[in-house]
Amino acid sequence: MRYYQFKGLLLEKGWITPTYVGVDDRGLIQYLSDQNPSDGIAIESVTGIVLPGFQNSHSHAFQFAMAGMAEKHSPGSSDDFWSWREAMYKCAMEMEPDQVEAVAAQLYAEMLRKGYTHVAEFHYLHHDKKGKPYANLAEMGERLLAAAKIAGIKITLVPVFYQKGGFGKPPQPRQVRFISNTVEAYLQLLDDSAHAVTKFENARLGYGVHSLRAVDASDIISTYEQGPKNIPFHLHAAEQLKEVDDCVSAVKQRPVEWLLNNLPLNERFHLVHCTHLNDEEVVRLAKSNANVILCPGTEGNLGDGIFRLSEFAGNHGNWSIGTDSHISLNPVEDLRWLDYAQRLLTHKRNTFDDGASVLVKKTLSSGRKAMGNWCAEYFSIGQPFDAVVFNLNTPLLAQAAPAHWLSAILYTADSSAIAGTIVNGKWVVKASQHVADDFIRSEFQKHFLKP
Ligand SMILES: [Zn+2]
Repeated sequence: MRYYQFKGLLLEKGWITPTYVGVDDRGLIQYLSDQNPSDGIAIESVTGIVLPGFQNSHSHAFQFAMAGMAEKHSPGSSDDFWSWREAMYKCAMEMEPDQVEAVAAQLYAEMLRKGYTHVAEFHYLHHDKKGKPYANLAEMGERLLAAAKIAGIKITLVPVFYQKGGFGKPPQPRQVRFISNTVEAYLQLLDDSAHAVTKFENARLGYGVHSLRAVDASDIISTYEQGPKNIPFHLHAAEQLKEVDDCVSAVKQRPVEWLLNNLPLNERFHLVHCTHLNDEEVVRLAKSNANVILCPGTEGNLGDGIFRLSEFAGNHGNWSIGTDSHISLNPVEDLRWLDYAQRLLTHKRNTFDDGASVLVKKTLSSGRKAMGNWCAEYFSIGQPFDAVVFNLNTPLLAQAAPAHWLSAILYTADSSAIAGTIVNGKWVVKASQHVADDFIRSEFQKHFLKP
């Protein structure tokens, strides 16, 4: 057993101060109390307060190679989501498996440094540069799993079905690496991915389709009906107004309206973005118990729009956060921006009664489901000890009373306030340094795409 003493640890009901945590060799919590377990035991004392590790519910790892590189706009040009997508396709076309692995390992190490301990990798870069499947259909997925292992982050690999270049359109040449032509071909890829996941500890499987624009409507239904029923189903929906308009032209319904009418949406479904919803969709989607994955950094960067979070939350909707293109990787920053966007819209400050508590609770419970993990308790006996530790020596936190710790973190902290990140009971980041930083960084430098 390994023991820690922290100044505080957050449970759903509030802080335990101080907190003693005992973790066994498998990384599972076996002791959790404000009482010292007994005299004479070696205990690592940490001047920090502990939150459950964050879940990153939506990642396209390869896009980290272009984060921040598409921000110069020619005077007079019209740069939007669709022109950004062309730059993203160029990046996707260039990456070999070794590069994907090195970029993903660096990305995942950075996620850990910011407090994420589990990532759902929404994966569609399946084939070689000519669109030919690799001998191992799950080659690229396996590289992502390997990257997660190197970095020490937990991963849910979500290989998704990508079939079309748009509603009723054949794939573009730049999309050839994504494409499975039929449901059967995709399910074979999913089978190989399931096999790959079994080779890794701390790995799980999800599945899904890229979006309504990327798969025929009837094949989306078949994919769901023929796919596994016990793992999360992810897809993009209603990110852009053009996508909504194209969907209405193609199937006579809006994207989320179509999903509500044609799939048995429930808490296993995770709809990414849902930026453009009408009044009826907000209420019906919330009541379906399906989850929305919000990516405020990327949605802001791409000019998508603002999700109707206040109304969705008012109808008890479920949601979590993801970093998507990885333009922003800081969970507390992304959470506060979800709140601030609503404040900017409403000119009021109280989006939620107790914003920090609600933001943490909602993204944790829905984020865990996005990973295929149904435990909603922050920390409990028998669960893995996955945590982000904030430094209680920072000027503000050092002076704050425990009643204000969580709001001080959510509304003021950046990653410099993080003392470290723990996965399965062990530090993977300590004093801002990842334990495998030298190796991960040298591989990343070797493989980074030069613009
Ligand atoms: Zn995405």
